[in-house]
Amino acid sequence: MKLPVCWSCDYHFKWKELLFVINGRKKCPHCRNRQYFTTHTHWKSGVLGIPLPISMIVLNSFGFPFAWTIFIMFLTLLVYFAILPFQYEFTNEIQPLF
Ligand SMILES: [Zn+2]
Repeated sequence: MKLPVCWSCDYHFKWKELLFVINGRKKCPHCRNRQYFTTHTHWKSGVLGIPLPISMIVLNSFGFPFAWTIFIMFLTLLVYFAILPFQYEFTNEIQPLF
């Protein structure tokens, strides 16, 4: 797993810089050019999020105590946000979702 680079200046983004990417846009701290998620990135971040609601349904149907379900969801969410920046790829223009 590796972190994305700026499409313009090849700046290597740091993990903490990618924790808050709003609406698939990010500004490069080095050259100030705007970065946009590729279509592939939109799809990957969506697919990675699928286990979250599914695990909640599965845990509930097995009669897990609610507090445990919340705890496990919280951990899953942490792992999701820890992995997510490694899936990002940036481009110089807005790409469609499909
Ligand atoms: Zn840059």
